[in-house]
Amino acid sequence: MKLITRFYNILILIIIQNINAQNFKIDTADYPQRKQFLTGYKEKSKIFNKGIKKYSGSENRELSKVFSAFQTSLEEDIKDRNYLFDERFISFVKEKVQMIADKNPDIPNDFNILIAKDNEPNAFNFGDHTLVVNSGLFYYLNNDNQFIGIICHEMAHARLEHTIHSILSRIRKNNDKKTEVSLLKKSANQQEKAFEMFKTMLYSNMKERREQEIRADSLGFEYYKKLGLQKDAFVSALQLLKSVDEQKPDSIYTTTYRKVFDIPNQKFKVEWLKMEDFSQYNYKLYTKKISEDSLKSHPNIDLRMTLLKQKITEGGFNQEERDATPAFKELKELAGKRIIPNYYDTEKYGLGIYNCLAILQKKPDDDFAKFYLGKFFNKIYEARKAYTLNRYLDKIDPKKQSYSYQQFLSLMWNLNLDEIRKIKDFYEKSES
Ligand SMILES: [Zn+2]
Repeated sequence: MKLITRFYNILILIIIQNINAQNFKIDTADYPQRKQFLTGYKEKSKIFNKGIKKYSGSENRELSKVFSAFQTSLEEDIKDRNYLFDERFISFVKEKVQMIADKNPDIPNDFNILIAKDNEPNAFNFGDHTLVVNSGLFYYLNNDNQFIGIICHEMAHARLEHTIHSILSRIRKNNDKKTEVSLLKKSANQQEKAFEMFKTMLYSNMKERREQEIRADSLGFEYYKKLGLQKDAFVSALQLLKSVDEQKPDSIYTTTYRKVFDIPNQKFKVEWLKMEDFSQYNYKLYTKKISEDSLKSHPNIDLRMTLLKQKITEGGFNQEERDATPAFKELKELAGKRIIPNYYDTEKYGLGIYNCLAILQKKPDDDFAKFYLGKFFNKIYEARKAYTLNRYLDKIDPKKQSYSYQQFLSLMWNLNLDEIRKIKDFYEKSES
């Protein structure tokens, strides 16, 4: 699965129907579950780190360094509330992992399972038997079998120890091998950097990664076949992820800004829409660049689908798509309701506002979007006061962003502190 952050986020259009304000409350009651997970994770990490010993002396030292730095960074990431400790998701994933492992005894079944508050349809494992499923995966997939297919693919990565192999080949290749590891160690406190660096280490070798993907598909499909489920879900899941990847983000029209930001105690100001002139940029060129890059994030996806389809045809399997179970439908719906809160919890306030605007463009009276607009603007206001706004709001970059997103960022950066405060005050009132 892809891990590389895309240049710009896909604008997610969701229609959330008539939810009452009291349902909007942010759940902070997950402290005991987080604590419990961390305790279990530390124990399992110890066991895993001992297992690394099977590699030769110097390699196992380097591997241990990488993994322990990674484990610290993951623990911090968990403390930062980037994961959703909702039993409904977790037990569903556990059940599927168990179901796959029951028919495929070679799969390790001691996985740490995390649900990331991330709207990208993605799942990945960190090589230390930690399986992360983004809540966005539930939102985008259509049914249980597609989900099981993705998990089989991840189980195959784990079984084949792809993460360890990637790190090892990286260590072996680099004459200057100390650099990255010591960098990783140094920045262990700055967990975000360590985390990103870990991911970069894993995925910088595109060729190796492509080969690993094809091998994970192949073995994952063997796992899947043993479950006796309808076979093409494994491919249709890939097809779906590809189409999400290629989706063009919707535009926010200026009329939407004029409506949403024209409030009783502050009229809309035309100068907010002023943008720097980037007309010299060739947007077509950049669009091409962007799409090439996003395809890279799903390496060889067409080839992967072709190879998988061959396997299916050979077997003469039923091509019919099975419906989602009520359990999956419930999670899909829950994941949809999580989209805006995910941006809030993971401090992506700018993107949160952009997505609220997209909802309000379609449904001007959506209370949920208005409620969150107040919350996001409160954070933007605090950040603006503390001169930390660039942590939460992207800088304009015509090479990497759609025109609509640049327009949005211009507007946000054009607002002064007092104007932000008035917008915040107005939308915070929609809470009651
Ligand atoms: Zn994969």
